[in-house]
Amino acid sequence: MKVLVADDDNTFRSLVTEVLSDAGYEVSAHENGRLAWESLQAEGAGLAVLDINMPEMDGIQLLGAIRTDERFKDMPVLLLTIRAFTEDQIQGYEKGADDYLTKPFDNDVLVARVKVLERRILGH
Ligand SMILES: [Mg+2]
Repeated sequence: MKVLVADDDNTFRSLVTEVLSDAGYEVSAHENGRLAWESLQAEGAGLAVLDINMPEMDGIQLLGAIRTDERFKDMPVLLLTIRAFTEDQIQGYEKGADDYLTKPFDNDVLVARVKVLERRILGH
C-alpha cells in the first residue's frame, strides 16, 4: 500500500520514509503540503502521514483538501508534529485527522499506528 508522507524536515522525512519502507509500505514523500497534494491527485495513496508545520501548504490545510475531495475523503490520515500543544491536536482532529503522533516518536510506534489505521479504516 502506498503511504503519502509530507514533512519539510529532511531528517524526519527520511526517517519516516525508511521506517515505513522497512515495514513494507510504498512511500511517496514530499517536502511540503502542496507537492504532496499534487502527487496525491496525480498518483493517489492509501494512507497519509503528514507533518503539521510546513511551508506553502501546511498539514492542516492539506488535511482539509483531502477531506473535501470525494476521492480521498475517507483516507486515513496520521498527523505528525513537533508541537505538543493541545490546540494543534484538537484542530487536527476537528479537521478530520484519524490519529496524532508527536515528534520525536518511537519508530515501532509509528508503524503500529499506521497498521491500526490500515486495519480499522481500510479493513485490511
Ligand atoms: Mg515541519
